[in-house]
Amino acid sequence: MKRLTIACTCLVVLVVLAYGAHIRGSEPPFQAGYPYNYYYGSLHSHTSYSDGGHPNDSSCASSTTHAANDATPADAYATARGAGLDFLEVSDHNHQFNDACPGCSAAQVVQRYHDGLATAASHTVDGAFIALYGMEWGYISNPDAGFPNEGHVVVTESPKLFGWESGYYDIYTSPNAGDYPTMYQTALSNPSQWGAFGHFAHPSDGTKSASGQGLDFDSFAFSPAADDFIHSIAVISGPATDFSTLGTDTGARYAGDPMNGSQYSVYTSTDMYNRALSAGFHVAPTTDFDTHCSNYGTGVRDRTVILATSLTKASLLDAVQNRRMYATSAKRGQLVYTMAANGTTYDMGAGSIRTQGPVQTNGSITLHVNAFDPNGASVASIKIKEPLAGVTNGIANVVVSSTAVPFDYTFTPAVGAHVYYAYLTLSTGDEMWSAPIWINEAAGPPDTTPPTTAITAPNAGATVSGTITVTASASDNVGVTKVEFYLDGVLNKTSAAAPYQWSWNTGSTANGAHALTSKAYDAAANVGTSAPVSVTVSNVPDTTPPTAPSNLTATSPQRRRAALNWTASTDNVGVTGYRVWRSTTVNGTYTLVASPATLSYTDASVSSRVTYYYYVTAVDAAGNVSTPSNTASVLVR
Ligand SMILES: [Zn+2]
Ligand SMILES: [Zn+2]
Repeated sequence: MKRLTIACTCLVVLVVLAYGAHIRGSEPPFQAGYPYNYYYGSLHSHTSYSDGGHPNDSSCASSTTHAANDATPADAYATARGAGLDFLEVSDHNHQFNDACPGCSAAQVVQRYHDGLATAASHTVDGAFIALYGMEWGYISNPDAGFPNEGHVVVTESPKLFGWESGYYDIYTSPNAGDYPTMYQTALSNPSQWGAFGHFAHPSDGTKSASGQGLDFDSFAFSPAADDFIHSIAVISGPATDFSTLGTDTGARYAGDPMNGSQYSVYTSTDMYNRALSAGFHVAPTTDFDTHCSNYGTGVRDRTVILATSLTKASLLDAVQNRRMYATSAKRGQLVYTMAANGTTYDMGAGSIRTQGPVQTNGSITLHVNAFDPNGASVASIKIKEPLAGVTNGIANVVVSSTAVPFDYTFTPAVGAHVYYAYLTLSTGDEMWSAPIWINEAAGPPDTTPPTTAITAPNAGATVSGTITVTASASDNVGVTKVEFYLDGVLNKTSAAAPYQWSWNTGSTANGAHALTSKAYDAAANVGTSAPVSVTVSNVPDTTPPTAPSNLTATSPQRRRAALNWTASTDNVGVTGYRVWRSTTVNGTYTLVASPATLSYTDASVSSRVTYYYYVTAVDAAGNVSTPSNTASVLVR
């Protein structure tokens, strides 16, 4: 206990000194005008809720046997924040919550996962630090131990604990390699409030055989669900049980040049980033602490960098959703990787959403790379790499190399789909991997002709009321991809196919003059805007009652029943219902007995051998009431 107290004090002193010296939080962009801030952290670490959180000494190991002071998620977040990180995800092993909680009931074991989520929420301070929680799901790949081609998937902020050990999960998931797609779908069906986020951890670890090097995740088996769920892949991971607090170590490589270099996992002989991209995955690269000691953010210099507009969980996860993130082993390294095409600048990660497709390009594009290290390293080399579809050995085509920064490379890609990313080495030997940009290059000369569009209904000067259909025409030399409708400059409706229409409820617009415009887009992002059409909204209260119901008949088909039928009323807006009135004398007092919406009514509250008199009125939505129908009488049986 005493020894631990001293260790804690020392740690605080170290953090304060280091913070004062050079560790900082989010970095403003060094490149003028760059629209994102740089947020530094890691999406993978462990605490005493599974096999991490051990003291920063040589006893640190992957173990679910814990001392009382081993680090909890709350400790992990506090340490990472103190170390100057902007975010940290704790991702405890999904199948070790029970092992780390001896004597706990199954309900208490599952609750620990939810405690982790709650701790992340309570340790998140917008603008200062974002705490993420999740699970590292699955078995590590090890053919010798009977787990071929499996692997660890980090599931970020999942609201449910997935598992396969009886009682220790919210939702059952099979950990067998061939069942991974089912887990991906389960995750998509149980998203966090920010979406469902999966991550390939240390993508070829644990294979002990010299032959049969494992490719995790069932050899990157691709499916649409897998791609929609998986957003990132580790290019550097660990060292998981490194207990240094100097922040100078670096983890094992799973990608980069040369393969099997000094920092490479001895079990890795394939560039896993290239391999995943060649398999069709839309992934961004990360560095994973995989912390199992208590040195969250102080163990290694590797960082995952998220490019976001603000330090909130929503903003960071939106960036992850769009794969706007990169990996660096230079602790504060800043990277810019953009593409100029179609007159538009696209950031790293562009074209990454499978359901939205790649960036459509035509003609030449310019890839732009810029980098800056506040700690003084300079750029030694830049390579633009293109992993080719279907290649399985992890080799990527090197499109171009440079030693100059900033580096701009203008070229016309071959027609078809491409994925390009930037790989940099620094004077210190450090490396940086950008997220890719995905494109689809079209044939022929660039399309620079904008569509033309016009509002064709209503006519200029029209007076409108109620709900009306606004219609636009649009045409283009290649093709119109969508038309937007604007009311007084505010977008109200996007129409993806002809006829381009918007059903406008003018009742929610103030009476008076208003301008309608349309904008038409083509695949090359050319935009055409219509001339404005001015109309006058004039909604007045409805004071016109419906016509009287007619042809009212009354019969008595059985004892104590009077059956009524009538012919419908009409109204300038619409009849909403009818009122049935009854009396026992023809000129007596009539009372309301029913308010049907249909054209018939059976009165069951009448007595036998009594004559009843009826009339019916109609009403509209504004409450206007018609004059009465004819009167009908019946002697009830
Ligand atoms: Zn792992
Ligand atoms: Zn791990």
